[in-house]
Amino acid sequence: MAKHYGMVIQIAKCIGCQACTVACKFQNNVPERQYRTQTPAFGPTGTYPNVTMYFSKEACQMCQNAPCVDVCPTKASHYDENGLVMIDAEKCVGCKYCLTACPYDARFMNAETGAADKCTFCFDERVAQGLKPACVTTCVGGALSFGDVNDPESDAAKILAHSKYEFRKAELGTHPSLYYIYDGVVR
Ligand code: SF4
Ligand code: SF4
Ligand code: SF4
Repeated sequence: MAKHYGMVIQIAKCIGCQACTVACKFQNNVPERQYRTQTPAFGPTGTYPNVTMYFSKEACQMCQNAPCVDVCPTKASHYDENGLVMIDAEKCVGCKYCLTACPYDARFMNAETGAADKCTFCFDERVAQGLKPACVTTCVGGALSFGDVNDPESDAAKILAHSKYEFRKAELGTHPSLYYIYDGVVR
């Protein structure tokens, strides 16, 4: 079976420390005040003193049916051999069509390269060398897992096998590769 890399986010374990955000910036030379991932707070909900809130890692959802690829006039945004959405900065003409098309607000124009930018699953720099993405390795709460979800032995598949998960904006038909698990979270 073809590989399908995915990331699992166990929201109850995310403490919103932004260690993943910082690790990502160092790994990928993301310019100041720009981000490939962040962990915003959701809430608070409820009535004092019974209030609750949670944090969640937000980033490119690595869609398998990606609107950003569809609209790119130069094919700078494309699927690689593993079906991951990547950006060829050399081919990017800076039209920003992909920024508008992305329903997850996951892209930005890199202030240094002038090209569209987003999460790459750290593929070339780490995953292809047998390492985990920088954010996964760094996650303080152990909220992030990564791997080929079609391989039952991968970290991601093992968690998904016994968990209920959701996709962001599944109704859009983008078929994301980020799996969100809300077990233990009050929404
Ligand atoms: S989340 Fe946005 S940038 Fe990422 S693959 Fe989907 S449409 Fe493209
Ligand atoms: S900004 Fe670049 S990657 Fe995005 S649609 Fe335009 S050419 Fe393609
Ligand atoms: S997988 Fe890599 S590029 Fe994507 S958010 Fe994590 S550290 Fe950043």
